[in-house]
Amino acid sequence: MATYVYDFSEGNKDLKDLLGGKGANLAEMTRLGLPVPPGFTITTEACRAYRSTGHLPPELRVEVTMAVRRLEDELGRGLGDFHDPLLVSVRSGAKFSMPGMMDTVLNIGLNDASVQGLAKFSDDERFAWDSYRRLIQMFGKTVLGVDADLFSHALDAMKADRGVVADTDLTASDLHELVEQFKTLVREESGRDFPQHPREQLDLAITAVFDSWDTDRARLYRRRERIPHDLGTAVNVVSMVFGNLGADSGTGVCFTRDPSTGRSGDYGDYLPNAQGEDVVAGIRNTLTLADLERLDPTSYTELRQAMRRLETHYRDLCDIEFTIERGKLWMLQTRVGKRTAAAAFRIATQLVDEHLITLDEALERVTGAQLGKLMFPQFDARSDGRTLLTTGMAASPGAAVGQLVLDSVTAQDRAAEGADVILVRRETNPDDLGGMIAAVGVLTSRGGKTSHAAVVARGMGTTCVVGAEAVEVDLAARQVRVGERVIDEGETIAIDGSTGEVFLGAVPVVPSPVVRYLEEGLEAALAELSAEDEETAELVTAVDRILTHADTVRRLRVHANADTAPDARRARTWGAQGIGLCRTEHMFLGERRVLIEHLILARTDEERQHALDALLPLQRADFVDLLREMDGLPTTIRLIDPPLHEFLPDLTALSVTVALATERGEEGPDLERDRALLAAVERMHEANPMLGLRGVRLGLVVPGLFALQIRAVAEATAQRLHEGGRPHAEIMVPLAASVMELHLVRDEAEQILAEVAEAEGLQLHVPIGAMIELPRAALTADRMAGAAAFFSFGTNDLTQTTWGFSRDDVEGAFFAEYTERGVLSVSPFETIDQRGVGRLVRIAVEEGRAARPDLVLGVCGEHGGDPESVHFFHEVGLDYVSCSPFRVPVARLEAGRAAV
Ligand code: PEP
Ligand code: MG
Repeated sequence: MATYVYDFSEGNKDLKDLLGGKGANLAEMTRLGLPVPPGFTITTEACRAYRSTGHLPPELRVEVTMAVRRLEDELGRGLGDFHDPLLVSVRSGAKFSMPGMMDTVLNIGLNDASVQGLAKFSDDERFAWDSYRRLIQMFGKTVLGVDADLFSHALDAMKADRGVVADTDLTASDLHELVEQFKTLVREESGRDFPQHPREQLDLAITAVFDSWDTDRARLYRRRERIPHDLGTAVNVVSMVFGNLGADSGTGVCFTRDPSTGRSGDYGDYLPNAQGEDVVAGIRNTLTLADLERLDPTSYTELRQAMRRLETHYRDLCDIEFTIERGKLWMLQTRVGKRTAAAAFRIATQLVDEHLITLDEALERVTGAQLGKLMFPQFDARSDGRTLLTTGMAASPGAAVGQLVLDSVTAQDRAAEGADVILVRRETNPDDLGGMIAAVGVLTSRGGKTSHAAVVARGMGTTCVVGAEAVEVDLAARQVRVGERVIDEGETIAIDGSTGEVFLGAVPVVPSPVVRYLEEGLEAALAELSAEDEETAELVTAVDRILTHADTVRRLRVHANADTAPDARRARTWGAQGIGLCRTEHMFLGERRVLIEHLILARTDEERQHALDALLPLQRADFVDLLREMDGLPTTIRLIDPPLHEFLPDLTALSVTVALATERGEEGPDLERDRALLAAVERMHEANPMLGLRGVRLGLVVPGLFALQIRAVAEATAQRLHEGGRPHAEIMVPLAASVMELHLVRDEAEQILAEVAEAEGLQLHVPIGAMIELPRAALTADRMAGAAAFFSFGTNDLTQTTWGFSRDDVEGAFFAEYTERGVLSVSPFETIDQRGVGRLVRIAVEEGRAARPDLVLGVCGEHGGDPESVHFFHEVGLDYVSCSPFRVPVARLEAGRAAV
């Protein structure tokens, strides 16, 4: 028989899966000998059984009976007794804390008879009737679904009738009358009487707590916090203690350190003569723990000892709920407390200094997401008067304030004049890059987290919100509409890339001292802080200590995805140990696009050669700059990848131009050229360009294109060698599916490298490798390894092609629905799908290495900077992850965490 019920004396803190966080910690405190009111926990397994069958398992009923009897024997009181009755609370408690999301019912066991017993025992008739009305109120709302306002209205009406303001001014007989009114309310609203039998109350309350796992708000919370929907909650049945039995009673919450700054000390609130829900409801101003010390020094001292005991035991910040019943302290809950990102770093190093944890443990106590939060400038949360326009998807964190601009050229012009601008587009495309670089923030009304805008902005560390569907961009009118509101180009808006919020007007921003540290080093960052700013100094020092430790323990190297020399420099300052992906197509935008267009459309060898001759010196200079910046470090240059159409004029626009010109009779060489161009664009038009002529296919089909790039790499390497540098260029072939594609490119590359080496009188060592971004490439890794010195997993395309999800479209389209319905728990474009895409990675790692033991393995898809994915890549044995420069510190930290 499954054991569905654990006494507090039977569990411990490591049983969170089964007992939930609250239950496991109540058991742990019981084990430690702290004063915990006796009780028991019904396991999450019981909840899962209930959820799958729709009724409480029969064994559970038996086990609950036995547990209640044990409790009654231990306390010498009975549930529902006429004399000195036992009352219990029924509290939810899942594995991960979901504050306020699920239900709790207090005072179970009170009925028309036992309320008399309670009055007698407590010697306080008013208290007894107040407890009973609270039970009916809470039970009515939570278990029987009666509208909570009806109870509050009845209570207010009673107070008005008696001419009093505070609940506490109602007398015992007032409350007795209120109980009768509440019972009538329950009967009328729920169609049943308030159950008098305590066991029925208990069973219904347990069921209600189980049900509260599935409320909309609980589901929403779990989605946001990425808590699986199938865990279920445990239920804690705890004997009641009362903080509302007079002036020598009360209830409170405390922390062993300040959860917002990390400072050590006792922090907390205390409310005399009150029950827990009064503190939460904020009906009276709370006192401090210092006040408690004055009011009840004995309980205070005992609480302080318990706090210290718990912090030493858990070796972490603890958050505690307690109640004092007539001068006796009871511990109602503890858990390792939530904290801000800054407090997490500070507390971790404080605990190291206090010899409570090791540096390895300190590393485990912080996360890359927290470090990421500390790196972004933030809106000053203290500022008021913000006007929220709408909320989109948070695509690239940060806080940006600037003039709204509607196109790339205006963005660049205004930025050149010194203005901060926010580029607002329906969606962005590669043509917008100039504007995106010039802008402090990017806002789009369409697209998801891996849309062009999102990926590029993240890469640049630019704040970005995408998919803000309420934003209607009207280019013709040069304005944006959000609902009724019209915002003209040039007006100021603010966007928060961590929350997706879009504000009208400026919101004050504060810069991050952690970024200064990453860019200028610890000493410089500390020197810039004022003497009073000890907290920030402690924070920056803590980040330095933990990150340095991560660097010493990690096995994964961290490279960056960077296409330009300035990006490369930034990546290097932030700790990148190489470039894992230089997307060369970004080098052919702007003025150079026409050169590629000429190359693609060339009809004669002469035209082609002409285009190539113009491109070669430009491309060589790009690589020289990059190799200079990355001197001594591997620099992986990917041959041109995107679909053809990105380099050609837009089909629709060109068709319109030609049609209009023809209609107007503008015959002449210009129109002739446009017609020829249109014919070529039509010829090359693809219904599904991401699966069309792109990557290695393009290189094999357009003569001279790859050769140009390979020659530029070879010549740039030679130039750097002549300059005395230590270039480590590598060439990477995109979107290969067959080893034959690799062989063809390799043959050509080796020939060019040999030619350049001979012409320059040098030895050129330029490894050639493959991106693994198609399932077939992964599944034939043994063969691919025969023609590749390294593999770099392009997990963006590998995810796209494994799931068959268009990376540019699906997130905004149906991922929300898919997450809601449990198909996805997180976007596979954000965090690697270990079962599917990850399996392909595993196969390719194992079979690739078996075929070529010295094969170097890395990843350069967006997942390379995603904390959870970094752990996966560590585990499968990659050599490095490559991510956008801004995420390099996050990846360093997570790679360290994965290794301890
Ligand atoms: C990838 O597909 O994962 C990749 C890095 O290439 P891109 O994002 O440029 O397609
Ligand atoms: Mg790709």
